[in-house]
Amino acid sequence: MADYEGVIGLEIHVQLKTESKLFCQCPAEYGGKPNSRVCPICLGLPGALPALNRAAVEYAVRMALALNCNVNSQSAFARKNYFYPDLPKGYQISQYEFPLAENGSINILGEANIEKNIRVSRIHLEEEAGKSFHDMDNRHSFIDYNRCGVPLIEIVTEPDLGSGEEAYALLNKIKRIAEYLDITTGNMDQGALRCDVNISIRRAGDTGLSTRREIKNMNSFKFARKAIDYEIFKQMEIIGSGGKVLQQTMLWDEKTGITMPMRAKEEMDDYRYFPEPDLKPLEVSLDWINEISRNLPELPDEKLDRFVKDYKLTADKARALIASPNLADYYEKVVNNSGDPVLSANWILTELLREIKETDIEHIKLKPENLGELIKIIKSGQISSRIAKDLFKQMITTGRAAGKIENIVKLNQISDKKQLGKIVENVLSLNQNHVKMYLSGKERLFGYFMGQVMDKTDGRANPGIVRELLTQALKYSKGQ
Ligand SMILES: [Zn+2]
Repeated sequence: MADYEGVIGLEIHVQLKTESKLFCQCPAEYGGKPNSRVCPICLGLPGALPALNRAAVEYAVRMALALNCNVNSQSAFARKNYFYPDLPKGYQISQYEFPLAENGSINILGEANIEKNIRVSRIHLEEEAGKSFHDMDNRHSFIDYNRCGVPLIEIVTEPDLGSGEEAYALLNKIKRIAEYLDITTGNMDQGALRCDVNISIRRAGDTGLSTRREIKNMNSFKFARKAIDYEIFKQMEIIGSGGKVLQQTMLWDEKTGITMPMRAKEEMDDYRYFPEPDLKPLEVSLDWINEISRNLPELPDEKLDRFVKDYKLTADKARALIASPNLADYYEKVVNNSGDPVLSANWILTELLREIKETDIEHIKLKPENLGELIKIIKSGQISSRIAKDLFKQMITTGRAAGKIENIVKLNQISDKKQLGKIVENVLSLNQNHVKMYLSGKERLFGYFMGQVMDKTDGRANPGIVRELLTQALKYSKGQ
């Protein structure tokens, strides 16, 4: 089945972090005492009328512009009807025929790190449903309506993705863009980003689309990647054995690592959409779009290019640093204080990210200014890399300020010429052969002697003084 390829489209749901819900004044924030953040509008009580949240529209337009979409000057809301306990109104207000934005595109790094353009067919606004809990009690299910009416955007792509890996790259990129645009908490544990996946396969080189299967409601990008690759494999197996792929909605079972068809009854997607009679068409003026466009922050790809160009970083390092807006900001503040972009990048990507998770960067005690100062000191050669690493560990746990670091350095460092002189003598007398080689021209051995002295002092010797003492001692040996 090597001549078959996967054909994958995504529907990505991004929860917007507005203060209030999409159509009422209830707080949209995650959590809260169950059913405490509700009102007649989000509960759909008779006579309650929705009023659209302007901030949610602005957030959606930000994403539309970031994904190069055309923002429609007029779009409309529709009722998507279905019966489910977590949906008190019996319908969800969404956009159907007339979405907010259409025809966008986004580049991802696809298979073999080759850039691939993925078309975005539409972005629309809709509201969240509530949440059911089936595992709190043997006999009862529970419902929390706090999430009802929280604003979402749904980003629908064309089936331009070829594998789980590419879908994973796209999902991560959309998440990153949403974080840069500051429109979502990005919190996966709280379901702030989820996706539905459509998968079919076709002969490589064909352009038509075959019957697809759908996996709904994936709230982990890693699971989405696994589920897609499993589906591609499974569909190849079905076709390879002479079968036919049927249009079905599948469920991913993360325990067994396979997809299973949902019950047939739930496959019937008949939402009987009709225009929402309680809301006027949504008008977005060109002036407003232009204003939002002017105020867009620097996006991840732009930042990546700038980091490579201005800071002379490799693309891989720059890519790692722009992974989140907080990490990128942190890096730039470190550079401002250290004056060395490459050394700063290395310290952040190795030492710092070894100690903390990237998502914790905004909460760490070590201020970027202080790390910058440390890197400046390292660069000046005043301290050995071993002391630098020890200091760094102290700084990250205590959040100690840069001014005090120099004191610690001085306290820790051995600058006593007598004491160091003895160690230097000792090192040279233990390494007579190396000394001879050095004296006969192998000057690179100087570093070896330095290393020996640093080793014997646990890295605490003042490198400047050691260098001075070694130079003197070796000159003396030469004279003898
Ligand atoms: Zn409400």
